[in-house]
Amino acid sequence: MRRPLIAGNWKMNGTKAEAADLLNGIKAGVAGMQKVDVAVCPPFPYLYIAAELLADTAIGWGSQDVSQEAGGAFTGQVSAAMLKDFGCRYAIIGHSERRQLNGETDALIARKYAQAVRSGIVPILCVGETLEERESGKTEEVVARHIDAVLDAEGVEAYGQGIVAYEPVWAIGTGVTATPEQAQDVHAFLRQRVAAKSKDIADGLRILYGGSMKPGNAAELIAQADIDGGLIGGASLKAADFVAICQAGEDNA
Ligand code: PEP
Repeated sequence: MRRPLIAGNWKMNGTKAEAADLLNGIKAGVAGMQKVDVAVCPPFPYLYIAAELLADTAIGWGSQDVSQEAGGAFTGQVSAAMLKDFGCRYAIIGHSERRQLNGETDALIARKYAQAVRSGIVPILCVGETLEERESGKTEEVVARHIDAVLDAEGVEAYGQGIVAYEPVWAIGTGVTATPEQAQDVHAFLRQRVAAKSKDIADGLRILYGGSMKPGNAAELIAQADIDGGLIGGASLKAADFVAICQAGEDNA
């Protein structure tokens, strides 16, 4: 049985004070939950606040990116080992905003994934198609390419140490959510793709859905057989909404 995970992707939002308020709100709201894993991914400068405020809780915290390099002359980058060093548990890798706005390629993303795993950080690999790709019937081709980048470079074992998030680009920040059936179909396809190399690893792999998940639609998405939680953008910035989504994970566990 896979334990659900609800992870918040704060993107480049908030101030120091807002980060602390949000963390305290989430901390209080999820305190009694036993069956769902909860994580937040604040911007880099606020990770230390998560480290401090969440130290006495089961809530994990993560970064929104990690370097593909181990260390050295790479100005502006942050290594997986540095993150691990001060208690970071997760790193979002290959978010569509980074693919589109920062030109990240599948090969680069596979290297970031590998660095995270090597340092004991759990990568959350984002995969997903654009609207144009969906409308031209290319969804499976695109997500297969995203998932295969890590499979081919690192082997199926890499998926024993990571998490996948299916995030259709057309659903991110748009208010349009994939229907539970649309999402389930892609999740099942992704799991099958990994199962073709190792059924055991595929059975244990958590595949999150991301794309305008909110309190009103979380339960029916998470109820799908292959949806193991959510990666939440906009709704992770309001403690009450994020906690309500965590509750949906708790209730569906
Ligand atoms: C995201 O960016 O990872 C995301 C899922 O955003 P939103 O929930 O706002 O669609």
